[in-house]
Amino acid sequence: MIAIDLGGKTAFVTGSTRGIGRAIAEALDRAGAKVAIVGRDGATAAEVARAVGERAAGFGCDVTSAAAIEAALAAAEQRLGPIDILVNNAGVTRDNILLRLTEEDWDAVLDANLRAAFHTMRLVLKGMMKRRSGRIVNISSIVGLTGNKGQANYAASKAGLIGLTKSVAKEYASRGVLVNCVAPGFIETDMTRGLPEAARAALLEGIALGRLGRPDDVADAVLFLASDLASYITGQTLVVDGGMVI
Ligand code: NDP
Repeated sequence: MIAIDLGGKTAFVTGSTRGIGRAIAEALDRAGAKVAIVGRDGATAAEVARAVGERAAGFGCDVTSAAAIEAALAAAEQRLGPIDILVNNAGVTRDNILLRLTEEDWDAVLDANLRAAFHTMRLVLKGMMKRRSGRIVNISSIVGLTGNKGQANYAASKAGLIGLTKSVAKEYASRGVLVNCVAPGFIETDMTRGLPEAARAALLEGIALGRLGRPDDVADAVLFLASDLASYITGQTLVVDGGMVI
């Protein structure tokens, strides 16, 4: 068995009160990292942090606000130490076909899924550069690679994350900061629970491994990219979709 040891490292995981983000936080915690649990409501984040483990701490932060991000990062650094691992996971959908998408739907999705990562990365990079070490993992989506009917705003935000990741990876590789994306396929969380049974069955048909994804499937990929096992990997998009898109 290969043990991943993140002892002494601090991780900041946005959107980690439930779903994929929570599984990522739990995996990083199991590897020994001190994890900042982040969600819009501080009390919920604190409650989740207590459940995750005694090293974890919760922080309320709406990632659509640059000021809130700055405050939460500062509070997390004060409590847990400098951020070594940043995971931009918080994400939302507001699905509709293009002609029915409102400007508000567009902005809400782009702000939470893409603009937030621009802010968090700028804020953590300075410290990471100084320490000549850092890992950033951005949670994109298979839809960012393929596009999807009814998800133009979401797909644009997730494709944007991939371009952002590649550029930042090139800019800061020489300073020891590695930046990658994970692109999940269909993972069972609150985000996907509303899908009608027929659509679910049709989706399943197209998944080579014959099952929907679990949050842990994504968390394992993030853990790998945050670890020493991935020291020679940057600017990449690791697809975790059970062979949905091959
Ligand atoms: P969930 O809807 O289950 O959870 C979303 C998380 O994001 C929650 O912890 C929520 O916390 C947080 N969040 C939402 N908006 C904000 C905000 N404005 N500020 C701070 N936190 C916020 O989503 P998933 O776990 O399914 O998805 C996680 C990521 O994975 C997303 O980026 C999603 O796009 C991506 N993804 C998911 C797939 C899937 O099939 N599920 C497939 C591909 C990608 P709270 O409500 O406490 O604020």
